Amino acid sequence: MNVRSGRALPLAPLLPPDYPPPLQNPLHSTNLTQAPPMHPIQCRCGALRGAVTPDGTSNRVRCFCTDCRAFVRHLGQGEAGLDAQGGVGLVHVAQARLRFTAGQEQLAALRLSPRGMLRWHTRCCGTPVGSTLADPKISFIGLNELALDRGRLDADFGAAVAQVNTDTALGAPKPAGSGLFMTMVRGTVIIGGARLSGAWRQSPLFDGAGAPVVPPVVLAKDEVARLKGMDGAPAASA
Ligand SMILES: [Zn+2]
Ligand SMILES: [Zn+2]
Repeated sequence: MNVRSGRALPLAPLLPPDYPPPLQNPLHSTNLTQAPPMHPIQCRCGALRGAVTPDGTSNRVRCFCTDCRAFVRHLGQGEAGLDAQGGVGLVHVAQARLRFTAGQEQLAALRLSPRGMLRWHTRCCGTPVGSTLADPKISFIGLNELALDRGRLDADFGAAVAQVNTDTALGAPKPAGSGLFMTMVRGTVIIGGARLSGAWRQSPLFDGAGAPVVPPVVLAKDEVARLKGMDGAPAASA
């Protein structure tokens, strides 16, 4: 019975009356099923502003390594930026997902050693923005939660937070390490995806020649030693 009616069925009635559909401006969020909103990036004083686009793989990590801690302390953000055991909250995303809309001239970069990671921060108020490698083709950034909207982290990046480098956490007992394997898997997806698609070229942190948009400053050895020596200071927090 389908054969007869199917053969007789004219094509036009199957199509909606306004076919082809009108082109939609993707920036108009009239469709509620569209992608979720961008996650805001902002330094503490508000001069640097931007966002993380909602598409793509991310990792939430609490890192207890001595370098992440020294970076936050150097900026004078140890109070806000370190948890009771010296952990730093990070969100790893592809650099191509970063958008800066204001105050990009406030961006600066430092390294704890001549070959260390590039640790991006703001001149205006010393907010740690995030850390990258110096090779622009390995195009992830570990964004510091201080530059993000901490009320929206669960919604935008998931509630699961891996704990890494827990052997150098402060105090005892050490927090349990967790989530390292999936963090590495997703990290491979973030980096590999940007490499294969060429999206690494769209990083706002590196210029067309692959150089950082701001030349990084290497901290003096004695300053790094001072910052790391604070680990050995008597615990001030309960
Ligand atoms: Zn600022
Ligand atoms: Zn770290």
